[in-house]
Amino acid sequence: MQRLSRTIDAPKDLGIQGVIAVPEGAPVELELRLESVMEGVLVTGTARASAKGECVRCLEPLDHEVDADFQEMFSYPDADDRGRVKAEPADDAEEDEDRLYLEDGLFDLEPVLRDAVVLALPMQPVCQEDCEGLCSECGVRLSDEPGHHHDAVDIRWAALQGLAGTIQDGEKDEMSGAEAGVDEKQEK
Ligand SMILES: [Zn+2]
Ligand SMILES: [Zn+2]
Repeated sequence: MQRLSRTIDAPKDLGIQGVIAVPEGAPVELELRLESVMEGVLVTGTARASAKGECVRCLEPLDHEVDADFQEMFSYPDADDRGRVKAEPADDAEEDEDRLYLEDGLFDLEPVLRDAVVLALPMQPVCQEDCEGLCSECGVRLSDEPGHHHDAVDIRWAALQGLAGTIQDGEKDEMSGAEAGVDEKQEK
């Protein structure tokens, strides 16, 4: 059994494309435990990294700390070479395709890391749990402006509101007329 700590540069597209991902080249901290077992090496580990995305409700940029656990078996390419009996039964061809193998004593952790990080990331990231999103009328971010609202005008009242405006204008005309009358009297 062997323990390893490594910091690697994030590979391209480590995350959910267009939603949230660890930027390429950003540090990914790996804690690994390698166990030698009969048919290969069992790799258990944790990956920590900072992913960047945007809130699905208000579109604000956000950071999300990823903490992804994984465990994967890497088999010897041909157990017979080592004088061991092949572990997998012959009729288990489908599972065989998903198997990962050691190559020249190395294992490729990238697909395992990718799957683990994608699973650990939120499909619908939010900047804060109670993010209220954007105002559907003017697009303002509601969390920035508590109590933000518009005086909603019901479309059925819109025509009446126009009428009210006309009446008010009419009243103003009459009033100015009356004032004018007063002025005239004063002039006399
Ligand atoms: Zn938000
Ligand atoms: Zn608004």
